[in-house]
Parts: sequence; C-alpha cells; structure tokens
Amino acid sequence: MLKKELCCGKCKAKGVRLYRWYSFMFTESDVRCNGCIEPDEFSGMVPCCKDEDGTVWGYMSTPKELVDEFYKLPENNKNEPTWLKYGFDYTIQK
Ligand SMILES: [Zn+2]
Repeated sequence: MLKKELCCGKCKAKGVRLYRWYSFMFTESDVRCNGCIEPDEFSGMVPCCKDEDGTVWGYMSTPKELVDEFYKLPENNKNEPTWLKYGFDYTIQK
C-alpha cells in the first residue's frame, strides 16, 4: 500500500517539512509548510510526523526514526523560521 503523502493545506507543497497545531485535533487541511504559517501562529505549531500507518505522533512521543525522517526534508521557505529539536523539546529558530 502506498503511503499517503501529506501536503501543505494551503500551497499543497509536498516533500517539505510540514507542521501542525500543537493542541488541536489533527486535521490534514490544517497542515502547513513553514512558508504558509502566519507569524502569530508559529508558537502554536509543531513538526508533523506521520508514520506508515497514518498515525500522527504526539509532540513528545514521536519515535526518533520519524523525527530523523522529518529533518531530512527541506524547509519550503528558507527565509522563514525553522524548528530545532533539543532532546524532547522544540525551539523555533527565526
Ligand atoms: Zn505551504
């Protein structure tokens, strides 16, 4: 079975790092690339890590392999902030 690829809900970009709202229920249409996140939304978004079964992993519980896979992807927009992972936490690098 083919893995359904997520894309940015706004510009439809694929193969780039995608982010989702931290504290809301996951909806694919709310997924954003870093170029489509409004500046006031950055603090509410976290990396979106989805596995082969379509499970979207929680902020703190994402398996290392999925995190590594996430970081192999490029950011869609190099001029926008990026998320860096330190241990279990993410920080936003502007
Ligand atoms: Zn986008």
